[in-house]
Amino acid sequence: QLSERLVRVAKYVPKGAKVADIGSDHAYLPCYLCIKDIELTAIAGEVNEGPYQSARKQVERSGLTERIDVRKGNGLEVIHCGEVNTITIAGMGGGLITTILNEGKDKLEGVETLILQPNVSADIIRKWLLHNEWVLVSEEILEEDEKIYEVLVAKRGNDESLYEDQKEQKLLLGPFLMQEVNHAFKKKWQYEVDNWKRILAQFEKANANEQVEEKRKNLLNQINMVEEVLRK
Ligand code: SAM
Repeated sequence: QLSERLVRVAKYVPKGAKVADIGSDHAYLPCYLCIKDIELTAIAGEVNEGPYQSARKQVERSGLTERIDVRKGNGLEVIHCGEVNTITIAGMGGGLITTILNEGKDKLEGVETLILQPNVSADIIRKWLLHNEWVLVSEEILEEDEKIYEVLVAKRGNDESLYEDQKEQKLLLGPFLMQEVNHAFKKKWQYEVDNWKRILAQFEKANANEQVEEKRKNLLNQINMVEEVLRK
């Protein structure tokens, strides 16, 4: 049974897509996609030997070797230009996901859909999408096994209007997620706010200097920004 987190990622993969799942580990996601959609084909990319072997075994066990190509390599280097139209990258931090996208920019030609599932730092991905001509079209936030995950879906294009007002707040919290404010969203951001308040209290005890004051102001601004949305 596929985790709810990956089911949510799968939900956004277009029918009949040519998918590259980067950092595929056991290749659970591409196997699930191929079983659900007979037209779909996939590449499962893995940089590490252990997960690469797990992916190969899983694909063989599922009888999907004709439709899923398991390749070993770093990030997008496992795909050739124009080979896929959809990329999924799940279960990593937002920083690593954007590094993978940045290092493989030339391989994004012909790719129409990105489905990214950061465990942390989704804001780094939103900024990357905005600066690299991708439009965020959907977002999800969910809780599974006491952990909170976000799913970001992007299509090609330019849409500055998404961030026309409250840009900083939207980049941090997610323009779609902050409209919905569901249970997982509240839980994640309340935890962050409580943590920032603890840090703020430490700053207030510290000897004031320009640097501390700057950090204190930024933190306070961030707390206010998030609390404003949580109060809604
Ligand atoms: N995508 C799966 C999921 O969401 O359940 C696996 C997530 S697992 C935590 C992260 C996987 O990404 C690991 O198997 C790791 O080897 C792989 N990985 C990390 N950096 C990578 C890179 N630059 N290129 C390809 N795979 C990478």
